[in-house]
Amino acid sequence: MKELKIDALFKLTKSKFDRFKDNRAENKQYKLGDALQSGLAIFSLKDSSLLEFNKRIPERAKNLERIFKINEVPPDGQMRKIIDEVNPIQIERVKKAVIQQIKSTGLLKEFEYFKGYKLLLIDGVHHFSSDTIKCVNCQETHHQNGTVTYSHSMLSAVIAHPEKKVVLPLCEEPIIHQDGVTKNDCELNASKRLLKKVRTRHLGEKFIRVEDALYANGPHVREIQTDGDKFIIRVKPGSGAGSVIEQYETLLEMTDKDRVISQKQAAKADKLFKRHGIEKPIAAKPHVHKIEVSEDKIIKEYHYVNGLYLNETHKDLKVNFVHYEERSVKTGKIVKKFQWITDIKVTEENVDKIVRAGRGRWKIENETFNTLKNQGYHFKHNFGHGDKNLCTNFALLMFLAFLIDQIQQLSNELFQKALKKSEWKKYLWDDVRSFFKTMPFDSMEMIYNAIIYGFKIEYLAIRQNSD
Ligand SMILES: [Zn+2]
Repeated sequence: MKELKIDALFKLTKSKFDRFKDNRAENKQYKLGDALQSGLAIFSLKDSSLLEFNKRIPERAKNLERIFKINEVPPDGQMRKIIDEVNPIQIERVKKAVIQQIKSTGLLKEFEYFKGYKLLLIDGVHHFSSDTIKCVNCQETHHQNGTVTYSHSMLSAVIAHPEKKVVLPLCEEPIIHQDGVTKNDCELNASKRLLKKVRTRHLGEKFIRVEDALYANGPHVREIQTDGDKFIIRVKPGSGAGSVIEQYETLLEMTDKDRVISQKQAAKADKLFKRHGIEKPIAAKPHVHKIEVSEDKIIKEYHYVNGLYLNETHKDLKVNFVHYEERSVKTGKIVKKFQWITDIKVTEENVDKIVRAGRGRWKIENETFNTLKNQGYHFKHNFGHGDKNLCTNFALLMFLAFLIDQIQQLSNELFQKALKKSEWKKYLWDDVRSFFKTMPFDSMEMIYNAIIYGFKIEYLAIRQNSD
């Protein structure tokens, strides 16, 4: 799949950046495409700051040109100014073009999890916070002592598979400043915009949305179904769908120790549902089955009930419920407990699959945000804030660099071998950087080869002062 190789993707991003509409009236000394590709190069090389990137231009110039196709890197002030003016949607379109490459090679199919559906994980992350630096798009938090905190967050929709380490960030949506709206409202509003993007840009893809308890509410669930998607959403007591847990617990109380419901209990359950004016659940008893004892002496217990109602306001909205717990054999105590609602009909055969998908939500926190924060991407570092879009655009360029890396990890054998050789991603980035500045290479693949197999220098010429 040569179109997914890192060098082909750098070529693709540069050709797309070059075609951006340049709205600058003057000061066009530096090309827009060069500025944006330089932004991508910073995150691809995992430099810790714009200053570091700029300081190393002389020794890296040849490789920036050969590998990243950058003719002239603008000085840091110019680069910030140029990227600040770019409409974020243009950068998102470049990412869409990269995703299109994954689709056309059929690689995306590998992420199908359940009857042609892929898991789409959605979560938000803060990437900037300051008491002094701000722009027109900053969210503002006014404190009682009169001070204000300015911040930026990003909502991300990521395709993941419980058996795969690699995740594919599909779409991002900045959570932008909105007057008088709380953070949660902002995240929910941003999620509406994000999912609209997912729908319009990725027609034909079927998703199971795996979301946290914040999203367990009637209007959101209906929107998912209107979009033709399915959902697995975590529920917690007291949250928007907490009533589902109460219904489940009521049913559980009525069952005997073996979880077999008696006729008398069934009649009692019927009465209960009639009193609330709702239809009898499809399965009016929690099914408990597949009790497994793992090697580390944990009892895994799966319960499910199909056909509960979401909550008092949405009694006509039927959802299916899954409860999963792990108990210690030694103490009998529950060590882990998760509960979800879903519109997938839960059966004995698929309940474990639903549990694994629901639990896979940690991947967005662990494999995406933690990788960006702790594995060399410097996600929380301020590379420059700008007056308009710089903060958002740098975050988008970082996601683009992350996506390109994830594709390599998924499909590029050379990258996989180089990663194995360097052992940790952080060390691999160090190795790439050190080759990148030392001598000219024709491609990033050549650098991977040098990392894997080493290289020899036939003749070494030390520079003279006059060089
Ligand atoms: Zn800002």
